[in-house]
Amino acid sequence: MHEDIEKVLISEEEIKLKCKELGQQLTEEYKEKFPLAVGVLKGALPFMSDILRNMDCHVEMDFMDVSSYGNETKSSGEVKIVKDLNTKVEGRDLVIIEDIIDSGLTLSYLVDLFKYRKANSIKIVTLLDKPEGRTANIKADLVGFNVPNEFVVGYGLDYAERYRNLPYIGVLKPKIYGGE
Ligand code: 5GP
Ligand code: MG
Ligand code: MG
Repeated sequence: MHEDIEKVLISEEEIKLKCKELGQQLTEEYKEKFPLAVGVLKGALPFMSDILRNMDCHVEMDFMDVSSYGNETKSSGEVKIVKDLNTKVEGRDLVIIEDIIDSGLTLSYLVDLFKYRKANSIKIVTLLDKPEGRTANIKADLVGFNVPNEFVVGYGLDYAERYRNLPYIGVLKPKIYGGE
């Protein structure tokens, strides 16, 4: 375990099994279609990579990078597109892949945007869900794990751009935030 991590919430093995399970569910759902998987950068990268390799059907991939106005820990709901998709959304079956849903404001913005762009269908797959943090009316279709209202890092999730490369999900030691 990394020395900055206080505890591991979800192990590498648990994540691996879950990606297999979710990939199989998506295969069943999309095997007659050609879905467009939309990864939300940067956090969804490891999850998207693992989930797509467990999908046994054709799937196209593209990426969005969005940043939300507001401070580091609270999103304001106003979202800025940093990198847009290269792919046309109209008529496509979208699978949005996220690392975590907290307030739901980022996803709510993306879902509205893709509806406006006339997607045929939109499903949300998230590795983690923090239901306690929710302010927007948004619900994922597939959830890997529910997590408590704690700040988590690893497997794509960062603190000040660090820890995204950890293969598990964990909680940082308080001293890393400048606390004791
Ligand atoms: P939302 O718009 O749902 O409040 O924000 C979701 C985004 O906030 C996530 O994609 C992620 O970047 C960030 N976020 C929310 N909770 C956590 C957390 O516990 N740890 C980390 N590292 N990022 C989080
Ligand atoms: Mg994210
Ligand atoms: Mg972040």
